[in-house]
Amino acid sequence: MSDTIRNCTIIGSGPAGYTAAIYAARAGLKPLLYTGKEPGGQLMITTDVENYPGYPDGRTGPEMMMDFQKQAERFDTEIRGEMITAVDFSGPVHVLTTESGDIIQTHTVIISTGASAKWLGLESEQRLMNVGVSACAVCDGFFYKGQKVAVVGAGDTAAEEATYLAKLCPEVHMLVRRDEMRASKIMQKRVMNTKNITVHWNTETVEVLGKDAVEGVKVKNNKTQETSVLDTTGFFVAIGHKPNTGIFDKWLDMDDAGYLITKPGTTKTKVSGVFASGDAQDNVYRQAVTAAGTGCMAALDAERYLAEHEIV
Ligand code: NDP
Repeated sequence: MSDTIRNCTIIGSGPAGYTAAIYAARAGLKPLLYTGKEPGGQLMITTDVENYPGYPDGRTGPEMMMDFQKQAERFDTEIRGEMITAVDFSGPVHVLTTESGDIIQTHTVIISTGASAKWLGLESEQRLMNVGVSACAVCDGFFYKGQKVAVVGAGDTAAEEATYLAKLCPEVHMLVRRDEMRASKIMQKRVMNTKNITVHWNTETVEVLGKDAVEGVKVKNNKTQETSVLDTTGFFVAIGHKPNTGIFDKWLDMDDAGYLITKPGTTKTKVSGVFASGDAQDNVYRQAVTAAGTGCMAALDAERYLAEHEIV
């Protein structure tokens, strides 16, 4: 175990983590940031990002995350490309264990471990990712303007994505695996009242068709076993997200889906000195810009905590 106690350790390297690092570093906290196993987070699997303010011509997700990283490094953030595999929040000083067995002691922890989209697990879905397959209509829907698309799922996210896409696309096919939707009544009503959305009940995806781009979707009715092909060029998977919060479940409050619970209006968790930001604590907005906003809040909350405890 190292003798040095760090002021601020950030877990995660998406927009929330890097924004927390920029603010913490500029406040002189010399933050240490662990990138995790997917450096850059979900934006690394996105092509063009056109809705992040300040980039009038758009930027690819990976380029944007390189910019975030450079900005964090410019202000003296130490970045380590490892995973944190365990935490101990039992004492006033928090203890983190890395995958290689290093032990880090830190006064504050900012959790920005994000969430991962759930996928169907089809080979064709993974192969056509970003060339027709997406898990975010708000991010990528614009690229399918005027085209026919399909949305898989029947929760609030799928209903919201289908209605969002219906404003841009002439035909939206919603693929629902049961004969009812899980989405709230109001969202279902919105779907049913949107003329260009067709709901396909009891329908599963067999394969996303196409070699280098999506050219259609092969679906199967699981009651009749009949298969058919939908003529679509976009395939949106909206079957839920899984927050990356497993290592905290012994220590922090979470909702049923595993999202961390913070004190309203702050990033404070129930453990003093531990703050949560980004998609790990947000199952509603889930945008890069909102994640960055809560990363900023977490750094400011950590800075105040350190000042109140006369640590820095
Ligand atoms: P949910 O877990 O609520 O829904 C997931 C949906 O995907 C279900 O309908 C499920 O089907 C379907 N599904 C899961 N696996 C498969 C599969 N392999 N093939 C086909 N379909 C599949 O996730 P959401 O992301 O929709 O919502 C998460 C939470 O966020 C909810 O609490 C929701 O209310 C909330 N939310 C709120 C919003 C708002 O208030 N504006 C907007 C978006 C989300 P089945 O029903 O058969 O299990």
